[in-house]
Amino acid sequence: MIDNLIQGYEEYRSQYFRDNYDLLYKLGTEGQSPKTAFITCCDSRFNPLIITNSDPGDLFIIRNVAALVPPFQKVSGCHGTSAAVEYAVRHLEVDDIIVMGHSDCGGVKSLLSDEQVEDPDSFIPAWMSIAKKVRENTLHDNPSVDTPERLPCACEQAVVKLSLENLKTFPWVKERVEAKTLSLHGWYYDLVSGEVLSYRSETDSYKPVLCK
Ligand SMILES: [Zn+2]
Repeated sequence: MIDNLIQGYEEYRSQYFRDNYDLLYKLGTEGQSPKTAFITCCDSRFNPLIITNSDPGDLFIIRNVAALVPPFQKVSGCHGTSAAVEYAVRHLEVDDIIVMGHSDCGGVKSLLSDEQVEDPDSFIPAWMSIAKKVRENTLHDNPSVDTPERLPCACEQAVVKLSLENLKTFPWVKERVEAKTLSLHGWYYDLVSGEVLSYRSETDSYKPVLCK
């Protein structure tokens, strides 16, 4: 597999890098100024640059398990996602933040699973516990469904909403949203259909992003 990647890199150098040299040189020498921060899952099956037909330098991409944004916390710790959001908002001064969840998300599946394995070496349960309220609410709202594993889509979309809510707990995000210099957007990507849905707060529902 590593040989394929090295081969791919060779092709990148001789094709993409050469064809886009002016842009890449400008970015490399003058710095970045993306207008959008894009928070999404680490999942390998999609790429925000490809989905939005963007170029290097256009999106400040933050990827983590399940596209979760933790709430603002003053306690010390390794707040990787919070640090990246801070850099995007306070230093790059992005105009928009998109949080995009997706179908068949392994992180959300683990949140819904009833088989919680006690593993002192695992970081995933503690990370996903940010969204434990989502699990409880989704189960509460769908009492007729006997197994929570059947509720991934509702839960995946609710996780995006939670991340949007949590973003607003960061004082410098809240301030900019209220001043209308920063807009927050919730998206949901269906891996099979390729459709992107967008969260509409007016109706508390998701609609195709292409539907105005
Ligand atoms: Zn995922």
